Amino acid sequence: MMAMALSRLHFPVTTLGPGRRVGVWFQGCSIRCPGCISVDTWDPALGQTAIADVARQLGDWAGTADGLTVSGGEPFDQPAALEILLRVWRSLSPTAVLLFTGYDLGAVGPWLEGHPGLLDAIVTALTSSTGLKPGRCAAATIRNFTS
Ligand code: SF4
Repeated sequence: MMAMALSRLHFPVTTLGPGRRVGVWFQGCSIRCPGCISVDTWDPALGQTAIADVARQLGDWAGTADGLTVSGGEPFDQPAALEILLRVWRSLSPTAVLLFTGYDLGAVGPWLEGHPGLLDAIVTALTSSTGLKPGRCAAATIRNFTS
C-alpha cells in the first residue's frame, strides 16, 4: 500500500460530526486561504506515513467509533490516498463518513461522481460565484449523500 502525507489521527473526536468519531487530518494544502488557522498543515512534504499503518490504527478504533471525519490540510490534494483510506473505512465500519474540504462542490464534483458510496456528507467551501474567497473558513455547502 502506498504512503500518504498525514498530519494527525485522533480518537475520539467529538466536535466534528455526531458522536465519538475517528478524525483523520491530511497533511498538505495547496489552497492557502488568507487567515488559515491550520498553516501547520500546508506543507505536503511532512508526515509521510504508510497507509497500511493508518489502516491498522483505524482498525483499532473502528469498532467503538460512531463515524469517520476527514479533514486537513486538504484531503482532495491526495485523491488516491483519500480513496484508499475511505475504502479501508468502509471495510471496517458501517458508520458514516464526513469530509471537510476547502474546495467548492464544483471542483470536487468529478471525484465524487467517480467514487460513489465513499462519502456520506461533505462540507465544502462556498462557490466562487458568491464572491467570497474559497476556503474552509467560509464553508457552507453540505450534501448528504445517503438521504
Ligand atoms: S483549505 Fe483549510 S487548510 Fe487549506 S488554506 Fe484553507 S483553511 Fe487552511
